[in-house]
Amino acid sequence: MSELLVLIDHGAGKPRKVSLQLLTAARRLAAETGDTIAAVWLGPGAGDHAETLGRFGAQKLYHWDSEDAHGYVTLPQVEALQKIVEDGDVAGILFASTNHTKDVASRLAIRCDGGIITDCSDVEVEGGRILGTKEVFGGDMISKAKVAEGKLQLFGLNTNAVAAEEGDGGAPEVVSLDVSLSEDATKTKVVSVEKQVSGERPDIAEAATVVAGGRGLGEEEGFRLMEELADTIGAGVGASRAATDAGWYPHRFQIGQTGRTISPSLYIGCGISGAIQHRAGMQTAQNIVPINKDPDAPIFSIADFGVVGDLYKVVPALIEEIKKRKGD
Ligand SMILES: Cc1cc2nc3c(=O)[nH]c(=O)nc-3n(C[C@H](O)[C@H](O)[C@H](O)COP(=O)(O)OP(=O)(O)OC[C@H]3O[C@@H](n4cnc5c(N)ncnc54)[C@H](O)[C@@H]3O)c2cc1C
Repeated sequence: MSELLVLIDHGAGKPRKVSLQLLTAARRLAAETGDTIAAVWLGPGAGDHAETLGRFGAQKLYHWDSEDAHGYVTLPQVEALQKIVEDGDVAGILFASTNHTKDVASRLAIRCDGGIITDCSDVEVEGGRILGTKEVFGGDMISKAKVAEGKLQLFGLNTNAVAAEEGDGGAPEVVSLDVSLSEDATKTKVVSVEKQVSGERPDIAEAATVVAGGRGLGEEEGFRLMEELADTIGAGVGASRAATDAGWYPHRFQIGQTGRTISPSLYIGCGISGAIQHRAGMQTAQNIVPINKDPDAPIFSIADFGVVGDLYKVVPALIEEIKKRKGD
């Protein structure tokens, strides 16, 4: 039986939410193709999470317990995956569409005669092959693509493209990999990793609530207000591209077509007009609440609730009211 590999994205020793989403998507595909699902964990720490990965669908867990494989290192990870592909019967590979894994997967595709489709918002099966859905032109058009018959198929899924749902699987069979790296793959090593997110604020891709600021903030200082609101409600802070391009907030917090995709329960957009490129990254939020002084701002067309008003009056009043209700 062929295997569908799921490359586990992990950080701080834990699988990221996207990994459980990938396993959920793999279960859906495997139910139609009859493939088995094998998770691949490159780097230390897999053992503690084998059961969780099994619950979400992994029947097998390939584990390379080596510091060589950990972090943003490309060639060692490519070579470990190449070994699994060459030694086994791999039908396809699902991975999180992040910069790093796109880097790894595209090199793997070249080495293993595969085809790669990245930034997918969904995957399905058609005629025994995987079909990837991509939103193009900022989400105005949908394109569906598959890899040519006979080639290894690799698909990168966006974070939050699929909701993670537990299945009823048990603990997976754990297979330890023994990878001997080529000289090229040992030329670079991660010597230290510094976390850039300050404090306890959740990452926007994982947060249940996201507060985002745009050009309407007018200046960098406006983000201190966004952070105050976020900390009052336990949210992550994101930004539009206009705000990140202006240097008011780091680019890694940009939401949208060329930024991150988020899918929180609640998105509060302050001083953001709702251009299609921004909407491409947040329109799947369950509740969209803009605060904008222009009643005709396009973001109101996708809003669940909204406040027409000056954010510098609305947001402080909101913070005060929330604090009062929380008894702070
Ligand atoms: C190829 C390409 C990729 C792109 N990718 C992205 C992307 O990933 N993410 C992204 O966000 N953009 C992206 N953009 C840019 C996008 O087209 C918009 O320019 C950008 O989203 C606008 O940001 P904004 O809404 O913050 O600013 P603006 O469009 O300038 O909107 C500011 C809003 O703030 C309101 N406002 C002003 N003052 C106040 C106040 N005091 N109180 C309340 N409201 C106020 C205004 O009414 C206005 O609606 C991309 C563009 C291109 C061409």
